[in-house]
Amino acid sequence: MRVSRGIAGGGIGAVILLVAALFFGVDPSIVLQNGPTFEDTTSSPQGQPPTAGGELPEFVSVVLADTEDTWHAIFQELGGTYQEPTMVLFTGAVQSACGFAQAAVGPFYCPGDRRVYLDLSFFEELRTRFGAPGDFAQAYVIAHEIGHHVQTLLGITQEVNRLRGQVGQVEANDLSVRVELQADCFAGLWAHRAQRSRQILEEGDIEEGLNAASAIGDDRLQRESRGYVSPDSFTHGSSAQRVRWFERGLASGDPASCDTFSADRI
Ligand SMILES: [Zn+2]
Repeated sequence: MRVSRGIAGGGIGAVILLVAALFFGVDPSIVLQNGPTFEDTTSSPQGQPPTAGGELPEFVSVVLADTEDTWHAIFQELGGTYQEPTMVLFTGAVQSACGFAQAAVGPFYCPGDRRVYLDLSFFEELRTRFGAPGDFAQAYVIAHEIGHHVQTLLGITQEVNRLRGQVGQVEANDLSVRVELQADCFAGLWAHRAQRSRQILEEGDIEEGLNAASAIGDDRLQRESRGYVSPDSFTHGSSAQRVRWFERGLASGDPASCDTFSADRI
């Protein structure tokens, strides 16, 4: 069996940084230097979920560690250092740098404290209410939120927020959709490597997982804290778009394929 080496190769990693630099006027070397310097890192789940020690937190830890392996490798290829996010498991409600969140908010990433907040009851709902194939749907949700962390490390989140303040509502929503689709593509990059090493995917996993995740929605807290005041007009993109960008990352394994910002058609 031929092992795909789509992500390997010194030049390829530079592409996404170049893309970021071109689009956002950011010097890649500054991006790389700024990324790792902010916060110390902890990858252990925190908090006291009622199921602590049970199967789910362990699963979260495994997927988290897998994303860290993947992104450490990719950042290394970029010539930088991946800074691991902190994972916070919660039920009920949680306080973050992005505000106070009820569990109903679902999983979210807070750029302000660089933490991924996972609502354990969300996973339960994913399984029972939406009948999503548990493992993959859950792993996808984690990988998507990690994608937002990567966007923050690369300076993309900050730049998009800045641009969002300079354009009208329609353009701002379009930027938001492109952010979400890029996070889906980044999740696909992770799946590319996980699939390569562990054959995690089964037929239909992707569509079912993405549909379930988008049906519930994520990032509501982020939107609120950033003042996205029209949730009805805000969208993650259609399920078809989300699947397409996830599959793009999955098929290519190439960060440069995740440049949703220069794509004419998303
Ligand atoms: Zn998102």
